[in-house]
Amino acid sequence: MLSRRPTRQVTLGDARVGFVKIGGGKPARDGSPTTPAPVSVQTMTAGYTYDIDACVREIHKLAAAGAHVVRVAVPEKKDTEALKHIIPQVQVPIVADVHFHFQRALEAVEAGVHKIRLNPGNINDREQVIEVIKACKARNLPIRVGVNEGSIIERKDKQKRMKELGAVFSGQKHGYMLAIMIAKLEEYLDIFYEQDFYDIVISAKSMDASLVVDAYTEISNRFDHPLHLGVTHAGPKETGCIRSIAALSGLLVNGIGDTIRISYANDPIYEVEDGLELLYALGLRERKGVDLIACPTCGRIQVDLFTLVQDVRKQLAEKVTVPMKVAVMGCIVNGPGEAEGADVAVFAGDRRGIIYVQGERVANVPEPEILDRLLKECLDFQGRVMRGEAKLGEKKVDIIPPDPIGELGSGWEKIAGGLVEKAAVKPAQLTVGKT
Ligand code: SF4
Repeated sequence: MLSRRPTRQVTLGDARVGFVKIGGGKPARDGSPTTPAPVSVQTMTAGYTYDIDACVREIHKLAAAGAHVVRVAVPEKKDTEALKHIIPQVQVPIVADVHFHFQRALEAVEAGVHKIRLNPGNINDREQVIEVIKACKARNLPIRVGVNEGSIIERKDKQKRMKELGAVFSGQKHGYMLAIMIAKLEEYLDIFYEQDFYDIVISAKSMDASLVVDAYTEISNRFDHPLHLGVTHAGPKETGCIRSIAALSGLLVNGIGDTIRISYANDPIYEVEDGLELLYALGLRERKGVDLIACPTCGRIQVDLFTLVQDVRKQLAEKVTVPMKVAVMGCIVNGPGEAEGADVAVFAGDRRGIIYVQGERVANVPEPEILDRLLKECLDFQGRVMRGEAKLGEKKVDIIPPDPIGELGSGWEKIAGGLVEKAAVKPAQLTVGKT
């Protein structure tokens, strides 16, 4: 497990939806010890909050996908009115996303929301920010304080502190923006500290991944509040994924970051799936469900592996909850090696697949039967794990690679002799078949 930077800890939620802790490792204000909570995954609904039934459905869907916290936008009074009806129907802590109108924050607090997200930079009146702080303090609600690039860029005033910081960061690529972010953050936090309010989570997002890394690194050196990581406006899933993972993984491996949101111009369900997968990949959360390994395929492939992998992924995601490792490999070259490290594995030959469970060969089936048999073995294995009859990650026997010609129907001699029909992988259709 990667070590984490110690922070203060905040808690959101209630007895009904459960409590989510963010950060930790520094003593609580009463002096009691805290330990860092697992990094949590947040997302935000894409629909209108005032559409109560649709919003509830979307929150259910995101929570079922594994979101630990869900944020909703409350731009209008009808949205905070709707919150009163939404919150009692959902089973996950809800954050109200407030911009410009401090009244929305007060109404959201009244409606029973579990946390407020506020960029003090877009609420003009300091007294209004103080009103929100007092309302949250009265109910023990944390506040996320944002100094996101987009919300402060127009506020480059000539304050003395910013000039000082400008000199400190002058040699850095993002020196000017870092100076603004830190100066503004200090200014905002003073408002909270003056109210004796410390249940704060900080965010400093940008669409520039390298600025995100620099900003959060600098903030983590200067402040001990937990950090909400994210790359804002990251773009479509296809490229936004790379942009987000590039920034977030660099921070997380250095122990920085306590809750994350990956943001895509797409269904937020992908934000949850990819956020969880990032944390699983870094060992920052215990995996739920299947850890699927698959080969990229190459000129040796002799089954339609792309389709098989997608089918296996889809079906196992719905049916398997224990974190078993499943390997789907295209041929005998790397198949046995990966199969040895997996709980359930298949490696393919000439239109066939040999299936293993913890190193023991259980079947050799023709291609059309691979999917069903692999799923059956995964579900049987899951049942045994749940009944305590099998242990995850236990290798019972070493795999002896099968005789390729006799058992897999292929093999180098047969391939060399032109006796195996080549699978034709057509990138446009990803289909494999006899040509
Ligand atoms: S397992 Fe076989 S088919 Fe898959 S990439 Fe490796 S050599 Fe190619």
